[in-house]
Amino acid sequence: AGSRARAVSVRNEISYVMVKPDGVQRGLVGEIIGRFERKGFKLRALKLYSTPKEVAEEHYKDLSSKPFYKDLVQYILSGPVVAMVWEGDGVVASARKLIGATNPLASEPGTIRGDLAIEVGRNVIHGSDSPDNGERETALWFPEGLVKWDQTLEPWLKE
Ligand code: UDP
Ligand code: MG
Repeated sequence: AGSRARAVSVRNEISYVMVKPDGVQRGLVGEIIGRFERKGFKLRALKLYSTPKEVAEEHYKDLSSKPFYKDLVQYILSGPVVAMVWEGDGVVASARKLIGATNPLASEPGTIRGDLAIEVGRNVIHGSDSPDNGERETALWFPEGLVKWDQTLEPWLKE
């Protein structure tokens, strides 16, 4: 892995991915983690977490002027979340595809939201929308840092 030229648009990135409280309550954690695992991305951090209010507000601060912001923060604080960081080439855009459109009724079948959710206000999962936000959100949710490890099956995933 490594020496062969790849498309410039595909970069190694990290994405902050979170199973929201409804996904935890509904027992969807294993199902959701399994999809990222099977895809081949590398898990760099994982915790079941009672989100502090300030973290939820900071995470969604770009949406603070939206009419649904208050309900959104309340939703994220309504129970524990499973916070994760996944690493890989193009992982940010790929995770968004695995997750599906924001409104689950518009999400394609086969995506997490398309298969597992109905309402935008209970859409079970978050994924960073850009590499910069992947870094920003990771720093916010994992100030303790990530786990460094060798994924020994890499030769079977990457040429
Ligand atoms: N959301 C909502 N109502 C809306 C739009 C968004 O409750 O009309 C919630 C929903 O949980 C969504 C989150 O706000 O996942 C963040 O919105 P964003 O547009 O960033 O969607 P995402 O990136 O999660 O697909
Ligand atoms: Mg978003």
